[in-house]
Amino acid sequence: MRKQLLTLAGLCLLSTASFAQRTLIHCGTLIDGIQNDAQSQVTLVIEGKKITGIQKGFVAPTGTDKVINLKNQTVMPGLTDMHVHIEQETSKGGESKRYQQNQADIAFDAAKYAKTTLLSGFTTVRDLGGSGVNIALRNAINKGTTIGPRVFTSGRTIATTGGHGDPSNALAEKLTLDPQYMTGVVNGPDECRQAVRQRYKEGADCIKITATGGVLSIAKSGKAPQFTEEEIKAVVETAKDYGFIVAAHAHGTEGMKRAIRAGVTTIEHGTYMDDEAMELMKQHGTYFVPTIIAGKTVADSAKIPGYYHPLVVPKALEIGPLIQATFAKAYKAGVKIAFGTDSGVSIHGYNAYEFQYMVEAGMPAMEAIKSATIVPATIMGTQKELGSIETGKIADIIATDGNPLQDIKVMRKVSFVMKDGVVYKGN
Ligand SMILES: [Zn+2]
Repeated sequence: MRKQLLTLAGLCLLSTASFAQRTLIHCGTLIDGIQNDAQSQVTLVIEGKKITGIQKGFVAPTGTDKVINLKNQTVMPGLTDMHVHIEQETSKGGESKRYQQNQADIAFDAAKYAKTTLLSGFTTVRDLGGSGVNIALRNAINKGTTIGPRVFTSGRTIATTGGHGDPSNALAEKLTLDPQYMTGVVNGPDECRQAVRQRYKEGADCIKITATGGVLSIAKSGKAPQFTEEEIKAVVETAKDYGFIVAAHAHGTEGMKRAIRAGVTTIEHGTYMDDEAMELMKQHGTYFVPTIIAGKTVADSAKIPGYYHPLVVPKALEIGPLIQATFAKAYKAGVKIAFGTDSGVSIHGYNAYEFQYMVEAGMPAMEAIKSATIVPATIMGTQKELGSIETGKIADIIATDGNPLQDIKVMRKVSFVMKDGVVYKGN
């Protein structure tokens, strides 16, 4: 293919300039992730993995330049979902999968979910808890063995005994191995430190704790605190030693406040966040990752007979419907927001519904898009390379049919996906 492009003029150009072929992306509308307004008629210049130029108007190709025509689309940075479970996906009676699946089964599923996620416009995800396959998946994607978004993963979740994430919850005694820091079950500050170090050893990128009960665990309470403040402090302090940020799953108010005071970076779900918790988050600079779609999905699924374990149903019906209103209040109060869906609890590839729910709850579309682009990059410390369309950054670029600033639902219609300068969808 390259040979066909080598016209005489092209050869001259190649001999005088660099050998990297340029790709010119003609953008009808551009949302760059930094500015508050969209721009029209812009050309992005891509060489290898990087964005090497941004020019007004539609620049004509020269030599071996390749052109990607997105003149009728809205172009924006690749999206980031700050909360997914890339290994799993909801299904009726899906709870029984853990008795049947081996790691290899999980891995094949995870590869499929990763591909779906990338093709829906999410070029980066933060994976917050799985079996350890998540780490292998990240490595396989980085090597090019399989296709998917850039993955930042916590590996296994860290929980307390019987807590949200204790893998032996509800198992018959004879099936219960002694859960401990290896599998992510800890008690007391020393074991908290040990578990963080174990995640480091296994190759995690960040830490996830379950500060309160959760909806889908086979346990009674979805909101009781499950870590002492001293334990969370031990997690956060140790995580800092390894350059990890800490994400805290929290529905209940007390456990959430302990996590905020102990210095976690993000609060996930945040369902029963009260005014005091919002103030604390502003004081500490804590981000809120709402996962509205997860709340709506569990509330809907709980109405289907047999979908969830009987212990899960009342929790799903009570907690699920509240998240969108909490988000509306927190946004209005000035709490910092980062986009996250908890996909896996909902169907992979439906991540962009979250934008619609955020906008419905009062967040302007541009801000919702930034919460999934430059904001996550800032949280994860990758803002020099990712999160916006700027010269020198990595070419993670997507496009939607239609303008999301006019109709946020078009975020579900991603027709072009480029990651690391490679086109995975469209054109
Ligand atoms: Zn989750």
